Formats: sequence, structure tokens, C-alpha cells
Amino acid sequence: MLMAYAVATSAIPGILPSCRLPRVKCRMLNFDTTFKQLPKQLFEFAQPVRVAHPRCIIFNTALAAELGVSELGADGSHLTALLSGNVLALGSEPLAQAYAGHQFGHFTMLGDGRAILLGEHVTPSGMRVDVQLKGAGQTPFSRRGDGRAALGPMLREYIISEAMHGLGIPSTRSLAVVATGERVQREVPLNGAILTRVAASHIRVGTFEYAAAIEEPGVLQALADYTIKRHYPLLWNEKMSSSDRYSQFLSAVIDRQARLIAKWMLVGFVHGVMNTDNMAISGETIDYGPCAFLDTYRAGTVFSSIDTHGRYSYENQPTIAQWNLARFAETLLPLLHSVPDEAVSIANSALQQFSTTYTEAWSSGMRAKLGLNTARPDDPPLIQGLLSLIERNNRDFTQTFIALQRSQVSPEINQDTREEQAWITRWKERVASEQSVDGSVERLMASANPHIIPRNHLVEEALSAAVEDGSLKEVERLVDVLRSPFVNKEEDQRYHLPPCEPDAPYRTFCGT
Ligand code: AMP
Ligand code: MG
Repeated sequence: MLMAYAVATSAIPGILPSCRLPRVKCRMLNFDTTFKQLPKQLFEFAQPVRVAHPRCIIFNTALAAELGVSELGADGSHLTALLSGNVLALGSEPLAQAYAGHQFGHFTMLGDGRAILLGEHVTPSGMRVDVQLKGAGQTPFSRRGDGRAALGPMLREYIISEAMHGLGIPSTRSLAVVATGERVQREVPLNGAILTRVAASHIRVGTFEYAAAIEEPGVLQALADYTIKRHYPLLWNEKMSSSDRYSQFLSAVIDRQARLIAKWMLVGFVHGVMNTDNMAISGETIDYGPCAFLDTYRAGTVFSSIDTHGRYSYENQPTIAQWNLARFAETLLPLLHSVPDEAVSIANSALQQFSTTYTEAWSSGMRAKLGLNTARPDDPPLIQGLLSLIERNNRDFTQTFIALQRSQVSPEINQDTREEQAWITRWKERVASEQSVDGSVERLMASANPHIIPRNHLVEEALSAAVEDGSLKEVERLVDVLRSPFVNKEEDQRYHLPPCEPDAPYRTFCGT
């Protein structure tokens, strides 16, 4: 296993004229970076900036196995050097991607200011993923930022992204966090860290906004064609007219986003900073900054300290997603039709589909949470009735469904108000009317209702042990239980429960 690497002691000539970092041969990472074939306006070659004393503090062996890089972890020193950006794997031509974005509604030119794409790794089964170092130093897009990241936010992204994956929600993944041994200056000096993020790609709504904004011939279409081939290959069909292809591309992106946001809502996830640069065209959840999960159900919940007007509140997420997709559709107008009014009408009809798809996905998810296999006209008021009740009575979102699930096997819900009891009676009658086979209601509910979510108090406890005391045990344990959130294990009860003070206000901060 140790032979997986051979260190090249000096820069290898002919790889990159500006090559500054040493290279190591790494048979595990199979880089084949196609993004660099796109027009040069869309990226800048850029290398990570070396860090002083890197230490790999958490490594995701399960993900490494999925990616066919399981032996990476076997050689500590090269692993750390690679994942800190202090050396580059042979075949890696790192780059920073250009993108723009609507941030809280305002358009800005952005780009990877602190992230470097090491390359696209192709797994043994042929899956292509971006491997990116987040917090790897300044790039041509850093503006006034230092290009670095702090340990707490990088571990937070690691925990939450892996939790989302465990919940079956499309998400970027986290392969490792390396502590840099350097301090980063924020309001106070903090320990620096680099996250290795693995994504289907990092192409965002903002990437298309950038390509549209620069108004250079061919760039937008090249990006659209590339993205279709990479993420929606079924649309790359020679028989299809090009305007059909782009309108179907728009519809397909809308469809994936509508389903994604429905999944967020069904587990009480609040992204917190749904700027267009934080919405991936692949349909994965991306950029875990001030995100958090609901404990007590309150539709208007906002966790992010900077979201003063509640733009990105829990209940606003579907509307904001649609707003972001409208910005995406605007970028595609020149490709949709040569007559501008026709293009607008194609875009509008695709955008209208968002609400239908979202409502269907959310409703069928809610029915599953309630053990209902079929759809009936009275279901929407039944579901809405439950949400209003639990909001009025300050109930825990996750535990509500677990309690209902339990009540299928033992009728023990005890602290319910009279209104709640009336609702439960109505719901039980509805479940009984399904005439489902034995156990199927419980099975459906068990597959839709997690016992464990990354609750804010648990995440904070684990992060403070890691950041303040240098102990990663709790982060590792938490990530471990979050891998199987639908399993009810006696020894994991502590991870099921809401916090002792569920109504204490919880604030999150942008992950810088
Ligand atoms: P985010 O809030 O992480 O989605 O980032 C928004 C934009 O700010 C992106 O272009 C980032 O690359 C950039 N950015 C965030 N933090 C830093 C930093 N410390 N240094 C440079 N750029 C940053
Ligand atoms: Mg971002």
C-alpha cells in the first residue's frame, strides 16, 4: 500500500510552466479534468498556497471506498500533503472556477476565492467527480479575502454534508479535513483548515450567470453543452433540435431542484444562504455555511445571523429556489429561441413546472411520513392541519413523526392536547382506509422518518470539543450515527432527543 506513491523530489518539467508545488505519483486519484477544455474565461489555473503544519484530522474512509481511493488513507504523510495542497498529484492541473451570483438578491461577479479544483477524479466504476480543496489559499477571484477557512466551519460542512447523504438527500460530500497549523484572522484569530469537497461538479446557477454576463461569443453555449453532457447526458441526442435540447435542459434542472428542495423541507433543513452561486446545476445541495435543522417546528425559522429579513427562512426555500431558477432561465434565453419573446415564453412555461413538481414531491414525501400510500383529495388539509398544530404547540418536527410512527404499534402518545388527539383520530381513520397489507404502513413511515438529524446542540457540542479541546471523537461519533439515521438503536438515544431547551434561539454564521 505504501507503494501507491512515489515522491517526485522536484517539480516535473513540462506539466505546468508555473508549477510551484512538488508532485507525487498517486495511483488512486485518477484525474481527467474536462472543465479546463471550456473557454478560458470560465476559469483560471491556480495552485493551492502551501500551509505550515498540515495535519489530517478526519478522513472519510467510507467515501474513499466509494471513490475507489480507499488506500489513500493508508499513507498518512502523503495523504496530508495532498489534502492540504502542499503537493499535487501527478495529472492534477488545479484551477479556480469563475462564477457570478445573486447574493441576497444583488448581482455580483464572484469565482472560487478560496477553493481550488484539484481535478475531476474518475472512479473505477466510471463516475466523474470534482475533488476540490476549500480554504486552499488566495486565487485570482479572492477579491479582498484571504482564501482561507476556519476549522469549525469546515468540520461543520463535513458533518452536515455527510448527514444529508445519510438522509438520502443529494449533496456534495466531504472526504477530509486538514488542520493547517496556521491561524486565520476573523473577528478573533481561529485555527485554519482545508476541506476536501467531492461533488458531481461545482457548476452553479452562478456559473451560467457569469457566462451570460461576460457576453462573449460561444462561452454560454459551450458551458451549456458541457453541462448537459456531464449532468443530463440523455439530452445529448443528435436527433433533438438545439432549442428543444436547451429547453429540456432548463426543465430538467428545474425538476431536480424542485425535488431537492422538497427533500430539504421534509427533514426540516434550512440552507441559510440560497444565493444563486450556492445552487448546483447537478441538483446536489452545496455550500454548507449557516445551515441548520429545525428542532421545534416553526415555518418562519431563520438561523443565519446575516439573514435579517428572513429571505432564506425555512418556509421561503421553495419560493427562493424558483426565484434562483428564474435567474438561471434568463441566462439561457439566447439559446432557447432566436426570437426573444418566444424564448421568454419557453422559459416561463418551464418555470411554472417548478410548483407542480415541488408540490407533488413534497406531498408524496409527507404522505410517506404519515404512512399513506395513496393520494386522496382530503390529504392536503390533513397534512396542513398537522403542521399548524405542531407549530402552535411548539412540537419537535422530527420527533412528531417518530411519535406517530410509534403510535402505529403502541397507542402511547400521552401529552397530546385535545386538538392533537382529534387530529390523530382523523389520521388513524385515514390510515385504516388504505387497507394496506400488514406492516406496510410502519415500513413506509420508517423509511421516511429519520430518528436522527444533525441537531444544532449536537453539532455545536461536537464542534466545540474539536475546536476548543482538539478532540475529534465526538465529531466522528456523530458522523457515524448520521450515516444510518433511519435506524433506531438503543445506544444512540442521546442523538434522537431534542435539546433540553428547544426554544433557545439558535444563530449560525456564514462559514468563513
Ligand atoms: P460563500 O459565502 O462561501 O458561498 O462564498 C461567497 C463568495 O465569497 C465566493 O466567491 C467565495 O469564494 C468567496 N469567499 C468566501 N470566503 C472567502 C475567503 N476567506 N477568501 C476569499 N474568498 C472568499
Ligand atoms: Mg458559495
